[in-house]
Amino acid sequence: MYLKSLEIQGFKSFAKKAVLEFNVPITSIVGPNGSGKSNVAEAFRFVLGEQSIKSMRGKRGEDLIFNGGKSMSRQNRASVKVIFDNSKRELHIDFDEVSLERVVHRDSANEYFINGSLVRLKDIIELLAGAHIGASGHHIISQGEADKILNANLRERREMIEDALGLKIYYYKRQESERKLDKTQENLKQVYSLRKEIAPHIRFLQKQVEKVEKAREMRSQLVTLYQDYFRREEVYIKYEKERLEKARIEPEKRRQELDEAAARARAVLERSKNKDGQSQELLSLESKLSEVRKERDEIMRETGRIEGQISAEERIIKKQRELAQSDEAKVVHLREVESVAETIYKQVTQAETEENSSTLKEIVRGIGSLLREFILKNKDSTTNGGIAESEQELMVLRAEKERLSQKLSAAQEIELDLNKQYKELQSAIELEKDTNRDAEKTVFKIMAEQNELHGVIHALQAGQEKLQVIEADFKRELQEAATLAGRAVLDFAHLTAEFESDRHAQDERRKNIERIKIRLEDAGGAGGEDVMKEYDETKSRDEFLAREIEDLEKSAETLRVLIKDLDEKLTVEFKLGVEKINKQFQEFFALMFGGGSASLTVVKEEKKRKKSDYELELGDEETPAFPEATDEATEEGIDINVSLPQKRIKGLMMLSGGERALTSIALLFAISQVNPPPFIILDETDAALDEANSRKYGDMIENLSKYSQLILITHNRETMSRAGVLYGVTMSSEGFSKLLSIKFDEALAVAK
Ligand code: ATP
Repeated sequence: MYLKSLEIQGFKSFAKKAVLEFNVPITSIVGPNGSGKSNVAEAFRFVLGEQSIKSMRGKRGEDLIFNGGKSMSRQNRASVKVIFDNSKRELHIDFDEVSLERVVHRDSANEYFINGSLVRLKDIIELLAGAHIGASGHHIISQGEADKILNANLRERREMIEDALGLKIYYYKRQESERKLDKTQENLKQVYSLRKEIAPHIRFLQKQVEKVEKAREMRSQLVTLYQDYFRREEVYIKYEKERLEKARIEPEKRRQELDEAAARARAVLERSKNKDGQSQELLSLESKLSEVRKERDEIMRETGRIEGQISAEERIIKKQRELAQSDEAKVVHLREVESVAETIYKQVTQAETEENSSTLKEIVRGIGSLLREFILKNKDSTTNGGIAESEQELMVLRAEKERLSQKLSAAQEIELDLNKQYKELQSAIELEKDTNRDAEKTVFKIMAEQNELHGVIHALQAGQEKLQVIEADFKRELQEAATLAGRAVLDFAHLTAEFESDRHAQDERRKNIERIKIRLEDAGGAGGEDVMKEYDETKSRDEFLAREIEDLEKSAETLRVLIKDLDEKLTVEFKLGVEKINKQFQEFFALMFGGGSASLTVVKEEKKRKKSDYELELGDEETPAFPEATDEATEEGIDINVSLPQKRIKGLMMLSGGERALTSIALLFAISQVNPPPFIILDETDAALDEANSRKYGDMIENLSKYSQLILITHNRETMSRAGVLYGVTMSSEGFSKLLSIKFDEALAVAK
């Protein structure tokens, strides 16, 4: 991997876009003081994910953005982009070229990009850690920081070395694993407590389930009993129904017949109600007969009387005819005599009072003439007239007799007819009387049989009604049983059962069922589904939790093993690395100082470890602290032991500025040699060196450039001479840095 280019825009003094190409092993950046050279080194730090603004000489993120110059307004964002050639895949990402970009805004918000895709800082750091470019920035030595490694404490030193040795990646892995382990343990704790929480509930449910199972057993027993009972009941009902229906057929038929016969007989009797009418008719005939007889007798009597009169009249006529022959027999009517006598009396009375004789004589003559006239008259007329009258009378009587005779024959005819009718009616009535008697007898007989039949049918009906009640009970029981013991009770059609006319055994079965029902109710009644369901659910949850615990314990164990492995690896690699560094350190040191000795020793440091910026940035949630043991107790650090040639000085404190610079350069180069980072940036690391040491420094640099690309910010002529490419940085009159590629000779001028 090599560094291809750096692109700076809006970062610090680089208001305008500046691009630095690094296609040679050594690139130098030169320029006068304050032109912006160190800003380039900081641009590297920035783009590689540096989180300490302070280390980039700022207080806030804002300080990293170009703040405006004379005629240039300030900018709102600063961006730095670095491009690596990754054809060897030293960055673990499948691209031949990898660009990392970081942008900071005025509100201090940062954005990171890998090949243009927005990523997290973590992604950048992890990607770089894989290529030994760590956050500790051991490969970027800022101005005045040449002896940084010497000034650092044991722990920081260790971190820098770990970083340089490329062990950081193991740390991250370890941290990650520890974080996972913590999380796993936390989960385990939770799962354990969840399991503990549900344990009493499971025990409680278990007891409930036992009850439910007992109840289920009883219920299944109940189902069997019910099925048997129901099947028998069904058979009984069916059989009885058929039997009763069949038994009713004959009596019903007979009843029908009897009803019809009774109806017929009643119709006969009904008709006999006309009997009264007939009697009435008979009576009326009788009365008519008697009337006609009376009439006949009357006529006969009248005829007799008339006949008597006729014979009397005939006798009279005979007598009169005999009398008509003599006056003696002549009849003077008294009335006529009285009338004559009256007239005479009146004249006599008159005469008695009359004094006149003539008148008296007259009266006497009148009386005489009257008498004569009377006698004369009666002598002639009286006799003849009587016969005629009698004959007249006789004629009338005879006519009357004739009329009566006719009337009699009519009456006799009527009588004869009535008599005939009467007799006929009488015999009809007699005949009917006989029929009625038969009909009545029949009706009585029918009624007797009907009564008997009624009894039979009634008994059958009662049987059927009772059966209906049994059937209704049966249906109700079916429903009840289905509700109580489930629908399986209804599944009894396939069972075989004999018909039992005796209900005793069936009653016993029913009682047994009732007993079990009561016991079932005591045991908690129907249902239990909820309990079973809850038990099953809780149980499977418990099992799930148990499996979860098992899994978590397994993964915790795996993580512990992994952490242990990583620890071992770290220890081994670290020790190995330190040994290698020591070897190089000794060589470089001896080279620099012309002898002496220098080494690193691993020492135990009893100090609470400070969290790295990276950890701080990720926060507690993502990056839990190292296990307490590592945090609080002893941990390994690195001590530096030096011994200068021909001097008795031991220990860093006693070194001069130049000696410190040389020592740290020796160590830095030793570290870089052991595990060369892709590039190293050295900002005026050579500032304190005299000419002789500058040459040695230049030699070492050239040697180092075989392993790592070097970017050297320098004022040192010797150093400049070793660079393949030189960039000059100047501060424009408007107050922003300008970049130009220059030749060595120009560089000398620019650097001044
Ligand atoms: P020396 O050789 O003295 O070490 P140098 O070339 O390394 O100098 P730098 O320290 O890189 O110089 O540059 C410092 C310059 O950058 C100063 O002039 C400073 O004003 C300028 N500068 C720093 N931050 C900003 C900023 N945010 N906006 C504008 N200019 C800035």
